[in-house]
Amino acid sequence: MRRFVAGESTAEAVEVTRRLVSAGLTVTLDYLGEDTTDARQAEQTVRAYVELLDALYDHGLAERAEVSVKLTAVGQLLDEQLARDNAARICAAADRHGTTVTLDMEDHTTTDSTLRVLASLRSTWPWVGGVLQAYLRRTLADCHRLASAGSRIRLCKGAYAEPPEVSYDSAHQVDLSYVRCANALLSGDGFPMFATHDPRLVRIIGERSGFYGRKPGSFEYQMLYGIRPDAQLRLAQLGHTVRVYVPYGGEWYGYLMRRLAERPSNTAFFVRSLLTRG
Ligand SMILES: Cc1cc2nc3c(=O)[nH]c(=O)nc-3n(C[C@H](O)[C@H](O)[C@H](O)COP(=O)(O)OP(=O)(O)OC[C@H]3O[C@@H](n4cnc5c(N)ncnc54)[C@H](O)[C@@H]3O)c2cc1C
Repeated sequence: MRRFVAGESTAEAVEVTRRLVSAGLTVTLDYLGEDTTDARQAEQTVRAYVELLDALYDHGLAERAEVSVKLTAVGQLLDEQLARDNAARICAAADRHGTTVTLDMEDHTTTDSTLRVLASLRSTWPWVGGVLQAYLRRTLADCHRLASAGSRIRLCKGAYAEPPEVSYDSAHQVDLSYVRCANALLSGDGFPMFATHDPRLVRIIGERSGFYGRKPGSFEYQMLYGIRPDAQLRLAQLGHTVRVYVPYGGEWYGYLMRRLAERPSNTAFFVRSLLTRG
């Protein structure tokens, strides 16, 4: 599991962050857990994030490491206002330590609520980032709407099983949508964050960013911890900002199963790491 997850504790998350930062990468950390219908569990998640942000600051890492938060892990399924208030406490801690927060995007039934919370948080902390998923038919319009100055938007393909009424059903259509959305973000005034391991999309983003006169540093690439680490380093060596999404925490099992389902050849690594307790 350690190939894809930093560990269970704050200390392990900080140690992996330190290693990635010293290799020239930046980081966003995800405290694993989602779909909470228990206010106490949501509270525990907020405390874990605040503890992590304090620890990143104490270790001099806050400038290069931010956090990613799933609103359902801080109470969105109970009450949008509760999730907003909990996320605001995480944003306040990030602000104290000079770093940022990105709100992960979950399944399409939460999109409007998550974008409302994003807008509300951005009225206090304009640096709060959001995520748009290329597999949703609505996303190109969302990209145009959110490509304004100061707006940090991560573009990903999307990770949930969605019905055809709201999503594109072929991988090819999703890729075409990703390119249309990337053009919308790159031609706007915001700060796009391209989350993909797809070598073809990475190449296209490189070309399109040149077309729009975007210099390295005016957008970034993002990839998951343990996936294509060679490509992460190569892009960083070319002068790009590369942010590695690092999950940690006790709830790692579901996350790991999703990564393995995406690419069954990862199973060999998983079995080996279980056998070696790595
Ligand atoms: C930083 C980050 C944040 C994300 N945040 C969200 C979010 O908030 N909400 C959400 O719904 N989804 C999120 N995702 C997941 C995303 O939506 C996709 O499910 C996931 O990234 C797989 O899509 P892909 O673009 O890598 O392309 P895929 O179509 O999965 O892969 C394309 C190609 O990439 C290469 N590749 C992919 N995986 C591997 C691997 N394990 N090893 C080697 N090569 C590989 C292969 O060449 C493959 O053909 C995030 C992903 C990243 C990287």
